[in-house]
Amino acid sequence: MLKKMINNARIDIEIHPKDPMLIKSGLAAVGGVDMAFVRTYREDGKEEPFIPGSSIKGMFRSYAEKICRSLQLQDKPVPVCLPYLDPKDEKDGEKRQASCGLRFEKDKKKETIPSTDLYNLSCPACRLFGSNVFIGRFATSDAYITDEFRQNGQPVFEIRDGVAIDRLTGGAARGAKYNLEVLTRGEFSTTLEIRNFERWQLGLIGLVLRDMEQGLVRAGFGKSRGLGSFNAKIINFQLAYYNQSPKELSGLSRLVSEKEASDYGFFEETDEKGPLLPDLQKEGLRSIYNLTDTWKETLKPAVNDLVKYIETVKWPKNIEDFIAGRN
Ligand SMILES: [Zn+2]
Repeated sequence: MLKKMINNARIDIEIHPKDPMLIKSGLAAVGGVDMAFVRTYREDGKEEPFIPGSSIKGMFRSYAEKICRSLQLQDKPVPVCLPYLDPKDEKDGEKRQASCGLRFEKDKKKETIPSTDLYNLSCPACRLFGSNVFIGRFATSDAYITDEFRQNGQPVFEIRDGVAIDRLTGGAARGAKYNLEVLTRGEFSTTLEIRNFERWQLGLIGLVLRDMEQGLVRAGFGKSRGLGSFNAKIINFQLAYYNQSPKELSGLSRLVSEKEASDYGFFEETDEKGPLLPDLQKEGLRSIYNLTDTWKETLKPAVNDLVKYIETVKWPKNIEDFIAGRN
């Protein structure tokens, strides 16, 4: 990927659960609970629930994939891959949706594929979130209990009967008994970062954030069982540009050379004009823009780019032709 830093978006969010939530720990649970909430140790040695960054990234990715699928035009192939689907395991309904990363992995001389091609030929979701063959643009830290919540209270857990939950949905007919530990009170905060973004990528993240704000996204275990809904609060939304101070929201295609833009296949931004960026603050080489109060308005042209990009994306034909041409 591009070695130099061009631009960067940094978004601080809080996650306020509305329903009981279970982010499962991979470790065997103590105290006889079959499924326990994941915990970490604080500096003072006390245990506390947290949400691993990998879980948050997975939640953003799968919701973003859903948005891209919803923008798919009729008669066009699905515009994003299924990240764990091996090319040889495609079943009905999964045709041409094998993972970009696994397709490249299968290539006998995969080391010789230029990094520009790995990016250029990947589906929109892999371009943003990465795959087996390259790290994505989107990163997030672990989400910890907010200081404010900690000052006013304690996280609260309850033990629920998993069988009772499954009976509502008709599962577990044989009554295999298990229980799970859900969080019923707690608030978390985390920071998202999108480094060297194309403008449509900010649009896609903006749509995910909007739906999270409205409580339409669920996290963790038991999404179909009524667990895991939450409201996101956007605390801080900041853009940084390095060595450049654009007046309008701009992504890589407008900020790099023509050659770089064409090698990586950056989507050319539409002419849609959004509001001008707010006054900037200089910090060394960086120009910083604070969009906390205006991000929805400012991201409109980015959403427009996303729609156009998904309508015209060449995936999966581009990656199929490339792989076929090498074998
Ligand atoms: Zn992909």
